[in-house]
Amino acid sequence: MKNIMPNNGQFAMPELPYEALGNAISKETLSFHHGKHLKAYVDNLNKLLPGSGLEGLSLQEVVRRSEGAIFNNAGQVLNHTMYFEQFSPAPHAMSEAMKGLLERYFGSVEAFKKEFEQKGATLFGSGWVWLSADKEGKLVITQQKNAENPVTLGLTPLLTFDVWEHAYYLDYQNRRADYLVALWQIVDWQMVEDRM
Ligand code: MN
Repeated sequence: MKNIMPNNGQFAMPELPYEALGNAISKETLSFHHGKHLKAYVDNLNKLLPGSGLEGLSLQEVVRRSEGAIFNNAGQVLNHTMYFEQFSPAPHAMSEAMKGLLERYFGSVEAFKKEFEQKGATLFGSGWVWLSADKEGKLVITQQKNAENPVTLGLTPLLTFDVWEHAYYLDYQNRRADYLVALWQIVDWQMVEDRM
């Protein structure tokens, strides 16, 4: 994934690249999640950055170097940018190469999806489940709390499902597992693979 750079020390609000995502995520959820939750993280980060010593750095570098409120807001801007941009109402299917990698590291595509869903469903409280590549190209799944992002572990993040309640409660109430299963319908694998 490309480094996300600020303009005059301020990060721009990421555009939503679609208007709707079918039945997987409702327009109402998209409106609150992108328009209210992500907007608040972007606004908070831009208020906190001046005078922090982190001005001018890429968003990924701010996440690696910060802690406390700046880390929480920068992490959430990065996480949500990746989350929203990886979906499409008309997603590209997985390439044969990606299928081969998932088979190599997880046994099968279905086994990978099951483990990813299970790690998302069992993450206690708020956070994110991630697929990342390590420095040798090995694929790994991690559960990360709150605003954490795999870049802080030296990994290259490829795919993420948001398991904060705000991501699914309007559509799925307490059925987090159903939300996780539904997201496979809208994952744009070309976008995921471009992050490698
Ligand atoms: Mn969220």
